[in-house]
Amino acid sequence: MISDGFGRSFRTLRISLLDRCNFACTYCVDRETSDFGLKKTDLLKTEEWIRIVKGLHSALDLKKVRLTGGEPTLYPGLKILVREIKNLNIPEVSITTNGSVLSKQIEELKEAGLDSVNISLDGLTQESFQTMSRRSAFKQTLNGIDAAVSTGLKVRINCTLVRGKNEDQIIPILEYSWSKGILPRFLELMKMGYLQNSDTVPVFKQDEILDRVERRFGTLTPQVRKESSTANYWTTQEGNSFGIIANESAPFCRDCDRLRLDSKGNLYGCLSSSTGFPLPKLMEQGIEMEQILTLALRQKQDVRFKGSDLTMMAIGG
Ligand code: SAM
Ligand code: SF4
Repeated sequence: MISDGFGRSFRTLRISLLDRCNFACTYCVDRETSDFGLKKTDLLKTEEWIRIVKGLHSALDLKKVRLTGGEPTLYPGLKILVREIKNLNIPEVSITTNGSVLSKQIEELKEAGLDSVNISLDGLTQESFQTMSRRSAFKQTLNGIDAAVSTGLKVRINCTLVRGKNEDQIIPILEYSWSKGILPRFLELMKMGYLQNSDTVPVFKQDEILDRVERRFGTLTPQVRKESSTANYWTTQEGNSFGIIANESAPFCRDCDRLRLDSKGNLYGCLSSSTGFPLPKLMEQGIEMEQILTLALRQKQDVRFKGSDLTMMAIGG
């Protein structure tokens, strides 16, 4: 298997199925619109995705595929794709979603073989939810979370923090998640898309998050970090756990095993790179997968993520 000087390879694949979304989160995109990206007819078909994933799996022995976006629940063939990827014997298939239409889909996604779901939730009041997402679908998202929990699938909540906007939601998000048996995680804001060239990115940092949690719940015990994990985790004295994905404060490039595909099938070895390798075209030309992957591996940063002008909506967070 290919690897670089740090011993890194690719074992986790994240696919951005479409660069469109029914939300317009303020840190993800700078405009109030849902009309981003590809038309439905321009989307890669499930058969094309399967051919790509199959090619990558035979070169890499993938352990996990995450389907994301944009909003993956808007991709018409999501259920089929989950089933077909599971049929390739990839141990874990998961989605990252804003949860707003999840309640209608989660049962059949589970039946298709979905293993876990990450749901983004940046606020626990209608007002805070709307400030972050530019949408009023708060109740729908909570319904999506309840539906996911009731299937028995592994559910995690991801809350992206923007200084001055939603750090007051840290404690409510923790209490809500724990009351439902969900593992919550907070994300430090990353310099993606329109934030890339901004001097003042309003990051609410890991230490500040920990400080707030400790003030409320007392001393926290750090958990041992698992290899290739993006998040660090802590446990409260009462035995509740939470994570922080801290690109700024605790970078995790050193043992990153993630490989990404955007919605056109362009391959990226790193979030910090805005140049992808057009995989469908390269496969058609008969270029060896190993050769393409070696180039993608060179895109990885040694230590620290630098950001990119691609939006998370395009490359898939
Ligand atoms: N639409 C789905 C959702 O929101 O979960 C999937 C795609 S979204 C790009 C995936 C994750 O990326 C979300 O949790 C979102 O909060 C996060 N995200 C988007 N832009 C970000 C940024 N600039 N910094 C940190 N996280 C970001
Ligand atoms: Fe859509 Fe997710 Fe971006 Fe929000 S973070 S606008 S839900 S892609």
